[in-house]
Amino acid sequence: MLYRVLAKFNDDFGLLVFLIYLGLFLLAFVSVFLFPPLALLLVLLGLLGFVGVWFVVVIMRSIEQALARKGFSDARCPCCEGELATSEHTDPLGGQYLICSRCSQIFEHRGRRAQEEDLLEADEACVSTL
Ligand SMILES: [Zn+2]
Repeated sequence: MLYRVLAKFNDDFGLLVFLIYLGLFLLAFVSVFLFPPLALLLVLLGLLGFVGVWFVVVIMRSIEQALARKGFSDARCPCCEGELATSEHTDPLGGQYLICSRCSQIFEHRGRRAQEEDLLEADEACVSTL
């Protein structure tokens, strides 16, 4: 349950940050005509805010991956509790991809969610080394 909430948060966090910055941009645009120092302050806070956003992304993704690895120890999908199967494809860090038999979610061995394209790229890498 916690994993699913965290995964949804990580998926939608970029859009949330975009909407917050868009709202602050509109506020800064209006304040240029009403109170110009506020616009300057918002620009500076916006630039500093990127550092905070980066920290939130790194921390939340690392927690999500740690929760996923905890699910892997039981060979259960952290999303749906389905059984995990090991793929024959190798992920970028040298481990095996794990595929859920119920929801078809693909994971790298370190807990990061992967996409179907990652498996295709792994296929192409195998073919190019032959
Ligand atoms: Zn699943």
